[in-house]
Amino acid sequence: MRIYVLGAGAIGSLFGGLLALNGEDVLLIGRKSHVDAVNRDGLRITGIAELRIKVEATTSIPEEKPDLILLTTKSYSTAEILNSAKEIVRDSWVLSLQNGIGNEDKILEFGGRPIGGITTNGATLERPGVVRWTGKGMTIIGYYPQGKNEFVERIAEIFKRAGLDTRVTENIIGWKWAKAIVNSAINPIGALLEVKNGIIRENEYLLSMAIEVVKEGCRIALQNGIEFEVNPVDLLIQTLDQTSENYNSMLQDIKRGKRTEVDYINGKIVEYARLVNMEAPLNLLLWNLIKAKESLGDRR
Ligand code: NAP
Repeated sequence: MRIYVLGAGAIGSLFGGLLALNGEDVLLIGRKSHVDAVNRDGLRITGIAELRIKVEATTSIPEEKPDLILLTTKSYSTAEILNSAKEIVRDSWVLSLQNGIGNEDKILEFGGRPIGGITTNGATLERPGVVRWTGKGMTIIGYYPQGKNEFVERIAEIFKRAGLDTRVTENIIGWKWAKAIVNSAINPIGALLEVKNGIIRENEYLLSMAIEVVKEGCRIALQNGIEFEVNPVDLLIQTLDQTSENYNSMLQDIKRGKRTEVDYINGKIVEYARLVNMEAPLNLLLWNLIKAKESLGDRR
């Protein structure tokens, strides 16, 4: 299958690399330094597996459409990259593996056929050309917003053949929301206190705060017609247990002086609350505090 990875950083290069290794026809589309290193030395994967993979990479959007586009930028880059790729996005299958709410709706706006995805695999771009696979997890994909589709089943088979534990759901919108709600609690709390996820699990004050944030997100989701296959409070506990040694991505982004995805996590929950005449005071508070921390940088 011809697959383009749109925004090949950490998670996109991991998926693209493993798919290429298994014989899929993959093109990584990313930034120049990473693209140059991949074209020169191949893509290196370290950590869970030690691999060097020959895979095509480019900085420019090809004219020809692929069978599938994997969308793997941060959520704040989605609109810009879809716009620059609009000719190939129109009528194409686009699978978002991004965190946050709203990426699939953007794909729809650009005329693409969205497939939603969440993954608990962990990856970081160690340096150009080198991706560290930090945690082996599972991936859930589904026709967006809901329903069954044969092409989605085919993608899951291809992912599984590449060693990516994958299952299909008929309610991906519910999973996207459940993951965003869990992230809406763990990420800002961990980032504000600068602690590993395990501390949120162990500390009674932080855990009860995290549970209240998750419950607030659930009330807003339910009022917006979202149904869950998993109880987000259970997913919170499970995630904290499985990632107890991790510093979350929001904290890592702030430490590196990068923008966070808070607008697409807590920010979206606040927006969806307003749509149904509700309030989301905990999410609004966390959104404000993270925006403040982002803008203050190193200043204390
Ligand atoms: P990342 O390493 O920053 O990868 C995104 C890449 O896309 C970056 O190299 C970025 O470059 C590039 N990019 C952005 N706009 C572009 C454009 N117009 N043209 C070419 N390249 C462009 O981020 P990530 O960690 O892989 O995360 C991607 C998404 O997956 C996020 O929503 C994240 O929450 C989600 N996710 C990540 C993980 C993980 O373990 N990493 C796990 C689950 C879900 P710049 O940085 O220069 O913009």
